Formats: sequence, structure tokens, C-alpha cells
Amino acid sequence: AAKAAGKNQISVFHPGLRVERLDRARIAEGLRRALDEDEFVLNYQPVVDLRTGEVHAVEALLRWHSPEGIVPPDAFIPTAEETGLIVPIGVQVLRRACFDARRWHERYGIAVNVNVSGHQLHRPGFVGTVLDALADSGLPGEALILEITETALLATGQQETARVIESLSELRTYGVRVAIDDFGTGYSSLAYLQHLPVDVVKIDGAFTGYEAGTDTASRQRHALTRAIIGLCESLDLPAVAEKVETAEQEEFLRDMRCPLGQGYLFSKPLPAQDLDRLLAGGTGLDRPGRVGGLLAG
Ligand code: C2E
Ligand code: MG
Ligand code: MG
Ligand code: MG
Repeated sequence: AAKAAGKNQISVFHPGLRVERLDRARIAEGLRRALDEDEFVLNYQPVVDLRTGEVHAVEALLRWHSPEGIVPPDAFIPTAEETGLIVPIGVQVLRRACFDARRWHERYGIAVNVNVSGHQLHRPGFVGTVLDALADSGLPGEALILEITETALLATGQQETARVIESLSELRTYGVRVAIDDFGTGYSSLAYLQHLPVDVVKIDGAFTGYEAGTDTASRQRHALTRAIIGLCESLDLPAVAEKVETAEQEEFLRDMRCPLGQGYLFSKPLPAQDLDRLLAGGTGLDRPGRVGGLLAG
């Protein structure tokens, strides 16, 4: 919807399904205000162990609760990157995610995944920002997973990439892990998985949307998913299948020995208090109906 709105506009989704178009200048102004007025909210979506059904980690996903309505990240992150506002926004996200995750890690031993954009990653102060967030929140490095897309890691020049690798390697000495996000949609050079500081691979939802007995394209996606899972297994990298929506998809992923999954089948991204309730009810998500019940209630 954001793209359909045209190059200089985005769509804001109102609770009443009204859609308003905003231009970039207004977004930038709104983002500055949002930082001051605390309008950014994190939702958390479980990453589930497909063997046990338990919550393995949660991914922090940013929402902007603007006075005009709730704005999804795809609609404002490009503007935040263009204006450099992604840097202070990213600091807020990291700190809040670490503070929220501390109790989940203490009680349930789960980690938190935080999305990091290329602009943040290429800033000299990035390592310090992460270490400060860990120290101030008391979250151990082992409980933090930074999600980075292939593009963010590799799009810039060789020198830049070398510096980013250095930063990530330093963070890994503190136990922080690195996940490649949306794997398969970017450069998809399989060789780099071996050379980059990577601990987890998140397979893009475009591959996991398989339906049995359907078209060739769908069967090909299925074959690619199987190949990527096999690759991860042989490199000893845990794979997360993104956007798992149906029980059938889950079953296929289990058959392929995919260790982890994330998607609406298990849970939508939840406000922190709802995740508290979900985790307090036991971390077993093997019966999705229970999660649905919680969401409905
Ligand atoms: P992502 O990191 O790949 O996050 C997964 C997206 O898939 C999320 O969209 C999530 O709500 C959605 N999703 C999860 N399960 C399902 C499912 O079963 N079906 C479908 N159709 N979608 C599902 P969301 O929250 O709108 O975020 C979009 C993107 O915005 C993220 O993609 C990430 O690249 C970016 N983003 C989100 N939060 C942050 C942040 O704090 N910082 C930065 N730099 N980027 C962020
Ligand atoms: Mg992500
Ligand atoms: Mg992703
Ligand atoms: Mg994505």
C-alpha cells in the first residue's frame, strides 16, 4: 500500500480502516516529534522451536503510534533512513528492547531479536550503543540477537563492509549474536555465509508460503526452502522460517528439519504486556489455539 501511494507519500492506517496519505516532509517532521513525545512502541513476536513448540526468542517490531494513526515500519523506516533519524530511533529501539527483554530472559531464558538498519550499522558509535544498552539494562549479550539484512551488510563498499564485520565481531565477543534477515531475497551469495559473522539465518517469508498441490512456482519455493534449510544445517547455522501462517507449512518445515519458525500461526507481534501474559501461561505454543485464545481474550 505504501508503494502504491507514490514515491513521496505513505499511507497511514487508522483503526477505522481509513487511510491517509502523508508526504515525506510531514513524516520527517512527525518522526522528530515522535522521538520527543515517545510515540514509538515495540511489539514482540515469538520465534518458536518447531520441535518443542516453546518460545525460543522474540523479535522486536517497531510501530509508530502517531496522532494520525498507527504507522507500520515499512511506511516510515525509508524516510527515517534518508533523514538520518533512524540513528536516534534505533538507539531507542535497542535500549527499550534490552530493558523489556531482561525479565523475559531471567524468567524464561529467551533472547530478543532487534532489527538494525544499514545506516545504524555503519555509524562509528554503533558498538558503544549496543554495549551501553546491555550494561544499562542488565541484559547479557547472549540474550541479544541483531537482525541484519544481506543488503545492509554488503551493499556498501569493501572497506565499509570490513568495518561492519569488525564491529559485529567485537560484539560477538560479548556473546551478542547476528542473524541474517530476509535471507534469499538479497544477494543470496551462499559463500558469504561462511565468511561473515553470522549465527542465525532467517529465511524470507517469500519461500515458506507453500501450499500443497498448487502451481510450479509454489513447488519451486518449496524446493528452495528445503535447499536453504539443508545449507544452514551443513553450516551449523540455526534457520528460522519467517511468516509461517498455516499448519501445513509448519508440518513441511518440521519434515525438512527446520529448527525454528515465526509467523501468525504461532502468534502475531504482541504488545509487551500481552507477551508477558503469553509467557506466564507457559512457553508451550504447540497448540496454536491457545495463543489465538489469548489474543481473542
Ligand atoms: P522483518 O524484520 O522481516 O520482520 C518480519 C515482518 O513480517 C514483520 O512486519 C512481521 O509483523 C511480519 N510477519 C510476521 N509473521 C507474519 C506472517 O505469518 N504473515 C505475514 N504476512 N507477515 C508476518 P512489520 O512488523 O511490518 O515489519 C516490517 C519490517 O520493518 C521488518 O521486516 C523490518 O525489516 C523493519 N523493522 C521493523 N522494526 C524495525 C526496527 O525496530 N528497526 C529497523 N531498522 N527496522 C525495523
Ligand atoms: Mg527482522
Ligand atoms: Mg525478516
Ligand atoms: Mg523484512
